[in-house]
Amino acid sequence: MQMERVQPAPTSLAVMCPVSFRLPTISLSTHSPSVPADGTRPEGKNFLEEIVEDDLAAGRHKTVVTRFPPEPNGYPHIGHAKSIVLNFGLAQQHGGRTNLRFDDTNPETEDIEYVEAIKRDVRWLGFAWDEERYASDYFEQLYDWAVQLITDGKAYVDDLNEEEIRDYRGTVTEPGRESPYRARSVEENLDLFARMRAGEFPDGARVLRAKIDMAHPNMKMRDPLMYRIRHATHYRRGDAWCIYPMYDWAHGQSDAIEDITHSICTLEFENNRALYDWFLENLGIEDTRGARPHQYEFARLNLDYTVVSKRKLIQLVDGGHVAGWDDPRMPTIAGLRRRGVTPAAIRDFAERIGVAKANSRVDYSVLEYSIRNDLNTEAPRVLAVLDPLKVTITNYPEDGAETLDAAYWPHDIPKEGTRPLPFERTVYIERDDFAEDPPKKYRRLAPGRSVRLRHAYIITCDEVVKAADGTIAELRCRYHPDTLGSDAPEGLKVWGVIHWVPATRALPAEVRLYDRLFRTPDPEAELADGETFLDRLNPDSLTVHAHALVEPSLAKAAAYDRFQFERQGYFVVDPDTRPDRLVINRIVTLRDTWTKQITAPPVQKAPPPPPADPAPRPAPPSDPMEDYTEEQRALVARYVDQLGLDQGDAVILAGDLPLAQFFEEALNASTDPQATANWVIHELMRELKDTPLETLPFDGPKLGALVQLVTDETISTPIAKRVFAEMMKYGEPPADIVEKQGLRPITEADQIEPLVQGLMQNFPDKVGAYRAGKTGLLGFFVGQVMRATQGQADPQLVQRIVREKLAL
Ligand code: ATP
Ligand code: MG
Repeated sequence: MQMERVQPAPTSLAVMCPVSFRLPTISLSTHSPSVPADGTRPEGKNFLEEIVEDDLAAGRHKTVVTRFPPEPNGYPHIGHAKSIVLNFGLAQQHGGRTNLRFDDTNPETEDIEYVEAIKRDVRWLGFAWDEERYASDYFEQLYDWAVQLITDGKAYVDDLNEEEIRDYRGTVTEPGRESPYRARSVEENLDLFARMRAGEFPDGARVLRAKIDMAHPNMKMRDPLMYRIRHATHYRRGDAWCIYPMYDWAHGQSDAIEDITHSICTLEFENNRALYDWFLENLGIEDTRGARPHQYEFARLNLDYTVVSKRKLIQLVDGGHVAGWDDPRMPTIAGLRRRGVTPAAIRDFAERIGVAKANSRVDYSVLEYSIRNDLNTEAPRVLAVLDPLKVTITNYPEDGAETLDAAYWPHDIPKEGTRPLPFERTVYIERDDFAEDPPKKYRRLAPGRSVRLRHAYIITCDEVVKAADGTIAELRCRYHPDTLGSDAPEGLKVWGVIHWVPATRALPAEVRLYDRLFRTPDPEAELADGETFLDRLNPDSLTVHAHALVEPSLAKAAAYDRFQFERQGYFVVDPDTRPDRLVINRIVTLRDTWTKQITAPPVQKAPPPPPADPAPRPAPPSDPMEDYTEEQRALVARYVDQLGLDQGDAVILAGDLPLAQFFEEALNASTDPQATANWVIHELMRELKDTPLETLPFDGPKLGALVQLVTDETISTPIAKRVFAEMMKYGEPPADIVEKQGLRPITEADQIEPLVQGLMQNFPDKVGAYRAGKTGLLGFFVGQVMRATQGQADPQLVQRIVREKLAL
């Protein structure tokens, strides 16, 4: 096994049967109020569309002109994608135009590399700008406008230093003080400003400020800075300038120069709007149509488990925490592209999350939903084995070989096409798809059991061959020759369908599995003293399977070709691929709603490493509380005495203090301590396995609320388990899940009676047998109805109805 982290294949718990090769509709939830819970797009127009349409209808503008105004100081990220889709989309929908404007007023951080990256990414997203503009081309015009304001007595050169300026500005509750230089004459200001431009003064010696109002309730209006001195080389203007305009001074006028009608920016600029307008008004600027641009703000996108700020992303790149701007774990457009995400999926995501006026965080699953949705109909299905286990088919001829014709698409995708898939005596299957000692409900291969090899035969495992170190080296199986393309013969129980590749013709591949880049949903929230967002990086965000095998049809695959590896997820060929070696990235797993309903096999933990010193290891403690602290013992006592928990459960909870705390928080919402303990210990701990508690998408009270729904008999335990599986995904409150998915118990007899009647028609023999005295068959009928209603029917009611009908 050549991988850096042992991790079960993502969908390894899924039962696979040929009819199930489709993605179920996934219901979504998100922290963002703008995303409907079912993942559909927000209905109706967003507020910007309404504004634009009003303006056009009222004749305020003839054409809509928007712009996307990035600062070229980093690669664009998914947040920029939202802004790009919004700006270009608004113009496209209304027959307007969009400029790409580089807001390049800051010489220190900007670079042509970033300009190129931004252009490439906007194009790749599928948009074409009308004009390519640069704020740095407006430096001369901006300078002239500054001179105009000075001449009008509306701007002055200030000699206060940065700290003094901050000090004089006041606070939100206290007015600021006027600078002693505020009263300079127009002549003196003009002279000083010209000399600032001429390079007479060092960096920071002087600034140009607008003369507005130092007591203004809006802090942005307290004599804002317009220019500062920076003796730095600009990537486009070279050394032509040593004073540079501030963003606020450049932005509105740049919009006016370009006849922008709707200047859309993120909420943090809301208070800047007054200033934006003040400058335009006091300069008397109107654009060429005699109108002025208007700024509108919308909520920026924040995505869970990642950061969307170039300043932070640059730290990840420069610090070597990722392989570069296009590392597939990065939320940059370049990273998403390399990850295999399509432009269509990103556009869909940007539209799906909508445009809101309130900041929010969006769950990563919303992005994944858009990705799967797109790839489902785009990515042909093929077979690949990440962690190969050799299977010899003992009754297949030594030199035998045949070529099967395997469909690329499942039945529900309206596409056609097949590829040849060689079958031979030795194949590889996923190591995960075999269990020597299968847990309950394990639907894969085990000693003596049979499974179907996808697109091929049913095989039965006869023998397990072990290596010297005790690991499984090989399985010896038998195949059933008449099962190709036909059902299992009578009496042969098939436990599932698994994927495989032919041993001699499979192609070697390095497969890179990516996980979330950060461990916590908001890596910038609640940082402890001295902690930074970098401390929240997920150390397991990359797992490499260096010795994966893929089916031979991928021989001609080129970089950026996308596939679904059946049962595993969507994958893309990485540009690192060489003629003799494929490199493949996992784009996204196939997450199925039913995956969680099947009990996970116990994780086989590696034995603990031997102790560093050769002293004999202490015998395992016979007293389960042997190494418990006083605090933990007291907790056990309290749980048993006051809450009435079983001793064993109390010991388990007290053994893990964060878990105990979670349990106690759950009790805030639940009245039954033992039932709550059962859920924490049996359901939650099994789900968590080795992952830390803080990664859970929900808190203790939410679990307590779930337990209470069961205690109140609002839902049955099987339903509660389904709700729990949903909660594990998106952390929604249980009551919401119950409502949304209609999981309330079925208590109406007229909903159950037709099911019972249908069963009786389908199983007349069993009805006869029951009536002849085999009353044990009652359980069969009740069980079938419960299955048909996915556990939602009230079992007592079902039993009563079944009894009644069978008695007739
Ligand atoms: P960063 O913090 O990543 O540097 P920025 O806002 O400083 O972001 P700019 O290059 O100035 O980056 O942004 C260009 C445009 O993209 C702006 O209109 C900005 O409002 C928008 N934008 C940036 N980040 C987001 C985001 N997370 N969601 C939506 N729009 C964004
Ligand atoms: Mg910026």
